[in-house]
Amino acid sequence: MNQAVSVKASQGKAVQSHSLSGEQLRLEGLSKSFGHQAPAVVRELSLELPPGEILALLGPSGCGKTTTLRLIAGFEKPDQGRITLNGQDITEARPQDRNIGIVFQDYALIPHMTVMQNVCFGMRQLSKKERPARAAYWLDLMQLSELADRYPHELSGGQQQRVALARTLAAEPHLVLLDEPFSNLDTGLREATRNEMRALFKRTGTSVILVTHDQAEALSFADRVGVMNKGSLCQLDTPQTIYQHPVNAFVAEFLGHTNLISGEAAGREAQTSLGRVRLDRHAEGLIQASLRPEHVRLISDQSGDGQIISREFRGHDYFYQVRCNDHIYKALAPFDCCLEPGSRVRLEAIQPAVVLTEGSTG
Ligand code: ATP
Repeated sequence: MNQAVSVKASQGKAVQSHSLSGEQLRLEGLSKSFGHQAPAVVRELSLELPPGEILALLGPSGCGKTTTLRLIAGFEKPDQGRITLNGQDITEARPQDRNIGIVFQDYALIPHMTVMQNVCFGMRQLSKKERPARAAYWLDLMQLSELADRYPHELSGGQQQRVALARTLAAEPHLVLLDEPFSNLDTGLREATRNEMRALFKRTGTSVILVTHDQAEALSFADRVGVMNKGSLCQLDTPQTIYQHPVNAFVAEFLGHTNLISGEAAGREAQTSLGRVRLDRHAEGLIQASLRPEHVRLISDQSGDGQIISREFRGHDYFYQVRCNDHIYKALAPFDCCLEPGSRVRLEAIQPAVVLTEGSTG
């Protein structure tokens, strides 16, 4: 698809005329519970989506991601809060009046319609006569032209996914919502499809919200990531900031492996069970901090405090677990640092640890 997209994009007008940009979504204090006494599954959730941004909502199963998406789409009504799209209050609007496109996990293609008919089906904004030409445009963009006469069951998972997206985009929505759309694809196809989609969204300036529980997917696909836990948004920021400067232990642990260490801080350093560790900011007193495994160096040392308890070969590196002063630490070492389980090591923090809590708040 990339080639087709870049040809159209370089022609400028073709893509511009179908641009989905210029919209902005705002959620203000959205709350939702199912039932009178039931706890809220979305709690006072507020965020803004600038035009053309790709936002990933990331969180564990049951944290309220899909419900948030359904509130935005209008399939659920919030108990409290307001949704505006493009400056218009759409909180009470019917789903079909919101002009929001959704791609579900199972693609929801119509089985007895061909690819072409599926794509035409979504284009209510156009007369029946105009639809085939517009559908052909999107099928070309998605490199699906040769499959136009096939039925969904004659397509691979990746092809079905592209048809679902073509159908959604052909309706020219203000905003596209994606609910775990890559989860049915195998690893290789998943990465390729994800990259193609991101490139397409960026070229067309489409605003997108993706729901996923896959942290690697969120980090690589989105411009910003919102991490949710128990219905609340814990942190909303760029993937780099979320990974490098998590605001709490939940975010730190959800975004891959980490070592949660505690100690006594004095300025930019702390005394911990790992020894003296530099900190990413000034802190005093009792702290809890996060130190990623890739920031822990293992040094083979017969008189070291640490003992390797497990080693996992991962191709380009080794993942170790090391017992040290009654704690278990995780460390990533390059492929040429092969240490035997049981051997003694010294642990060294090679980057500052990220302070999560300080003083009595810890
Ligand atoms: P997953 O990643 O597993 O899809 P999620 O983060 O998308 O999870 P939601 O589907 O939003 O989570 O569900 C949040 C909570 O709300 C869950 O406990 C779920 O059981 C509950 N829930 C969702 N829809 C309903 C409903 N229609 N009636 C009652 N409870 C519901």
